[in-house]
Amino acid sequence: MKTLILLFRRKLPWLCSIFLFYLFLPCTFAQENWKPRIIATQSNQTGEVSFYIQNLNATDCQCEITLLNSEILTEPLITKDYYFIIPPATERQLVLTFFIKEPQKYNLTYSHKCLVGNPEKVQPDNFVYMFPFPEGKKHLLTQGYFGRYSHQNEHALDFKMRKGSEVVAARGGLIIGVKEDSEKGGGSIEYSDDANFIEILHADGTIATYLHLNTKGSLVEIGDTVAQGQLIGYSGNTGWSTAPHLHFVVNKPIKMSFESVATTFYGKNQVHSKLRTWRWYQSILR
Ligand SMILES: [Zn+2]
Repeated sequence: MKTLILLFRRKLPWLCSIFLFYLFLPCTFAQENWKPRIIATQSNQTGEVSFYIQNLNATDCQCEITLLNSEILTEPLITKDYYFIIPPATERQLVLTFFIKEPQKYNLTYSHKCLVGNPEKVQPDNFVYMFPFPEGKKHLLTQGYFGRYSHQNEHALDFKMRKGSEVVAARGGLIIGVKEDSEKGGGSIEYSDDANFIEILHADGTIATYLHLNTKGSLVEIGDTVAQGQLIGYSGNTGWSTAPHLHFVVNKPIKMSFESVATTFYGKNQVHSKLRTWRWYQSILR
């Protein structure tokens, strides 16, 4: 089924609209199946409520479930917040069971958040990255770490790139996130969810994001392993972006969030530990 979904997604997107009835669900699902999700069931006979977590990604995820009306439970609770780390390729893992009073009358309500990655397995190392473009190519850095335009809170880098420029893995790892269906972009925060991207999990548990990629601009799929310097996709101008560029950032998972980390890069005759805005940088693969 997975192969079928990927086939539809890659080769036959037009089929989605033609055979809407049969193919609409697989096509929609294919875009989002990397995201962990919560499945809750409630029995109106017994009042049993069960929470399951599905994590079809290639790596661990962390989830938090908060009960919003725990007063309807048969037993009083010590906490309303529950935290879980779920291993990869989990179809359905039972994480919580409760019983509620008067199940015909009430539903247990909750909020939740799930993120890919595992804060307990991250230990940033001193790895030296290559620039995220092919060896020998040069690009201008237009915004650096904590840049005033849109990087106030992160160690992110913007490299000016014409649409369709080659993007390579700055460090090898496992592909854990791909979005390539967006055609939208513009200079306003309202476009921030429209960016196409690729996410790579590294051996030290950190995750690199390559953002604003072109529509259908990914050459990789979730679960693929890539090597440093491998061509992974093409740059674009999707999402919150005023001009075509590549936004590159490395994050480490922390409990229910991410924290960006500084990285060093191979330069021609040196290692760059701090990059400067409005300088050109040439990619070197050691
Ligand atoms: Zn940026």
